[in-house]
Amino acid sequence: MQKSSKAERADLYKDRSTQVFLSKFLSGEIAELEPIYDPEAGYRYSIVEAIIGEASEPQVFLARLHDAGILKRRLYDRVICCPKCGSASISTRYCCPYCKSFDIQKSSLIEHVKCGYMDVEENFHKEDKLICPKCHDELKKPDVDYRRAGIWCTCRECSKSFDIPITAHFCRDCHMNSSFEDAVIRDVYAYSLCEDVREEVSLDWVVITPVRDFLRDSGFHVESPAFVKGKSGANHVFDIGAYKGETSKKVTVIDLATSTEGPVPEQPVIALFAKVYDVSPDRAYLIAIPELSENGKKMAELYNIQIVEAKTQKEAIKTLKEKMLRK
Ligand SMILES: [Zn+2]
Ligand SMILES: [Zn+2]
Ligand SMILES: [Zn+2]
Repeated sequence: MQKSSKAERADLYKDRSTQVFLSKFLSGEIAELEPIYDPEAGYRYSIVEAIIGEASEPQVFLARLHDAGILKRRLYDRVICCPKCGSASISTRYCCPYCKSFDIQKSSLIEHVKCGYMDVEENFHKEDKLICPKCHDELKKPDVDYRRAGIWCTCRECSKSFDIPITAHFCRDCHMNSSFEDAVIRDVYAYSLCEDVREEVSLDWVVITPVRDFLRDSGFHVESPAFVKGKSGANHVFDIGAYKGETSKKVTVIDLATSTEGPVPEQPVIALFAKVYDVSPDRAYLIAIPELSENGKKMAELYNIQIVEAKTQKEAIKTLKEKMLRK
């Protein structure tokens, strides 16, 4: 938590992935981000994956926001991983403490209250009744005629009996058996926004949230991030997608580009154009914070991409509104 200075957070707020992600909390779409279990890949944060793309690690992204004091986390689960291959596809096995076999039979111990005889439940079973093997009385009422005295295990391999098995882990991928002693255990967290940064976040840094709100108030159906299928069949991700009316074809797409030092270069314009070319939306906007380079502006004009330059949230909304009404 040493790095949790305001400056560190301010740097993070300027990042577009952080903005799109935090706006999910600010808009109330998510209160807490819980990981989703995938049998193939283990726990995943699909929302984060969609925002940051395949090249980056969701865990690293979330840990950075946590270290900066933006997100708080809650221990959600702990995942046992294979000490050899790292796989999380692990099964837990209860084993015989004598010969280590996992082929054990688990039974309940039953005590006949009247005569004091104690044995495993199976030995009391006669047809569908419970009959005491010693005095041959029928056991009817639990806690009156008989009581369950615990668990008793018998090993089918070495025939020994015991009450507490030992735990072992079996890797379904590399078939390695490992003990509790060599287990690699990973913490998995659920994340939520720190209350004390909520105001700081919404103050001036995060532009995505007010833009979403503005579009929604103007009668659009808004998605962020938005996946739009292009003519080529490929899916493209935009920071915001806004739809209006019956025809879902009427789509407005918006990307955000930020720069901490000087104007935003032309790369985000090129990236947006590549997607726009395939998707053919009604309108395409690039919000550039704080401003776009001259070269970027020339390209945007050529590609018919509308530019919204803004230093603050208010400015972004005001300019976007003006541009949207103009057409
Ligand atoms: Zn055994
Ligand atoms: Zn008895
Ligand atoms: Zn393994």
